Amino acid sequence: MEQDPNCIFCRIVRGEIPSRKVYEDADVLAFHDIQPVAPVHLLVIPKAHVASLYDVAPAHEAVLGRIMAIAGRLARDHGADDGFRAIVNTGRVGRQEVMHVHVHLIGGGEPLGPMIARKGH
Ligand code: 5GP
Ligand code: ZN
Repeated sequence: MEQDPNCIFCRIVRGEIPSRKVYEDADVLAFHDIQPVAPVHLLVIPKAHVASLYDVAPAHEAVLGRIMAIAGRLARDHGADDGFRAIVNTGRVGRQEVMHVHVHLIGGGEPLGPMIARKGH
C-alpha cells in the first residue's frame, strides 16, 4: 500500500502517532479529530496515501466509495444522529492543511453555520 513516510495521517495509519480510532478495516481508518469543532468531529481516511482529491485515480474509487458508504453509520454511532456535515477540504483555496485525503464528519450539536459565509447573511 502506498505510504508517505512524512505524512501525519500515514504515520497515524502506521501507529507511529497515536489517535483515537473509531473504525478500521483493510483500506479505511476513522479517528477523532485532535481539535474538534463540534461534539462529533471524526476524520475518515483511506489507508493508502492520496494527497488530495486532485490526486484521486480510478484505483481509489472503491475506497472513496466505502468512506461515503460508512459515513452515516459512523456519524450516528458517535452521537450525530440529527444530521452532520461531510467535508473534504482540497488545496489552497479549500484550505486543506493535511495533504492526505480525509473526510471530516462534523455534527452532534446545534445546526452548523452556513457552509460558506455570504456577505450580508
Ligand atoms: P484540513 O484543514 O486539512 O481539512 O483538516 C486537517 C484536520 O486534521 C484538522 O481538523 C486538524 O485538527 C486535524 N489534525 C491535524 N493533525 C492531527 C493529528 O495529529 N491527529 C488528529 N487526530 N487530527 C489531526
Ligand atoms: Zn499520507
